[in-house]
Amino acid sequence: MKENIILVDCDGVLCDWEYSFTQWMHHQGIPTKVTNEYDIAKRFKLEKPEAKKLVRQFNESAAIAFLPPLRDAVYYMKRLNMLHGYRFHCITSLSSDKYAQRLRYQNLDLLFGRELWDEVICLPCGADKDEALEPYRDSGCFWVEDKVANAELEISNKMNPQIFKNKSAFAVCSVLRVFKYNSHP
Ligand SMILES: [Mg+2]
Repeated sequence: MKENIILVDCDGVLCDWEYSFTQWMHHQGIPTKVTNEYDIAKRFKLEKPEAKKLVRQFNESAAIAFLPPLRDAVYYMKRLNMLHGYRFHCITSLSSDKYAQRLRYQNLDLLFGRELWDEVICLPCGADKDEALEPYRDSGCFWVEDKVANAELEISNKMNPQIFKNKSAFAVCSVLRVFKYNSHP
């Protein structure tokens, strides 16, 4: 058991990637076609390769340094750290570009404070997290994730995924749930 470690995804959990990406797409002249759709190709009615290319382009742009926090994630992350001694490992499928990765570190440090992070692991854009999660197999660690496919992997690894199907509320609720679990186990 890795004590006092919570694993977190970044986009859609800590940071409001969706908001910044949508603004960036509109700036490129590409309007949203379907709201409340996780899949970017469906959301903007694009071919999959085109959608993937645009996501990578955004993730490697300067905009990635300025993502806002997702709702009250900062509040609960800090409380989990200060009141319960939790530290965080962030595993994020951002990009293999080292400069993009540095912008992500800066963004997370600025929003949440450097002291919260034990590790921030950046994987290639859209990459599966199987390998990165392997060291946590059977750990029972909490894992806050907004992608259902990743959460299913974590269940098979006997981890403790916190995922909500209601997209509008999942991420912050996840952190909140971990917080409540600690306050009233
Ligand atoms: Mg995510």
